[in-house]
Amino acid sequence: MAQLSTLGHLRFMAWLDFLYNLSLLITVGADILVLCYVVPAFRRSKNRAFLFIAIACVVGIIDTICDHAVDARSLSESGYIVFRTFLRCGYFTDITFWALGIVSLTRTVLAGSQPTKSDDEVPKVVVSHWKCSKCGEELESQFTSCWKCRTPKQNEPVA
Ligand SMILES: [Zn+2]
Repeated sequence: MAQLSTLGHLRFMAWLDFLYNLSLLITVGADILVLCYVVPAFRRSKNRAFLFIAIACVVGIIDTICDHAVDARSLSESGYIVFRTFLRCGYFTDITFWALGIVSLTRTVLAGSQPTKSDDEVPKVVVSHWKCSKCGEELESQFTSCWKCRTPKQNEPVA
C-alpha cells in the first residue's frame, strides 16, 4: 500500500516535470512564432509597437531558458537570491514590453481608423453658413433662399 502511493507520487512528480518542460517548449515556441511576425512587421511599418513586442519575446525566451537551465537547488543562498531577482526582473520586463506593444498597437489601429471615418463625416459636419441680407437669419449653405423671409441667397464673399 505504501509502495503504491510512493509509485503514484513518483508518477505525479514525473507528470509535473513533463508539464514544466512542456511549458518551456510552448513559451519559447510561441515567442519565436510571434517574433517571426513582429520583426518583419517592424521593418515594414517602423511601428514601435512591433519593436516592443519583439523585445518582450526575446526577454521571454531568455527568461524561460534560464529558468529551465539553472538548477536553483545547486545554488548558494546568495546565488539563489541573485538568480531569483534576475528571473523576476526578466518576467516584469517581459510583461511591461508586452503591455507597451499592445497599447501602442491599439493606439495605431484606433488612429488609423479615425481619419477614414472623419473624412466621411467632416464635410457634412463643417457646413458654411450664410446670413440673410434682409432679416439676418443664419442659414446653412444648402439653402438657396431664407426660409423665414424668402430672400434669395446673395453671392457675397464669405468672411
Ligand atoms: Zn430672411
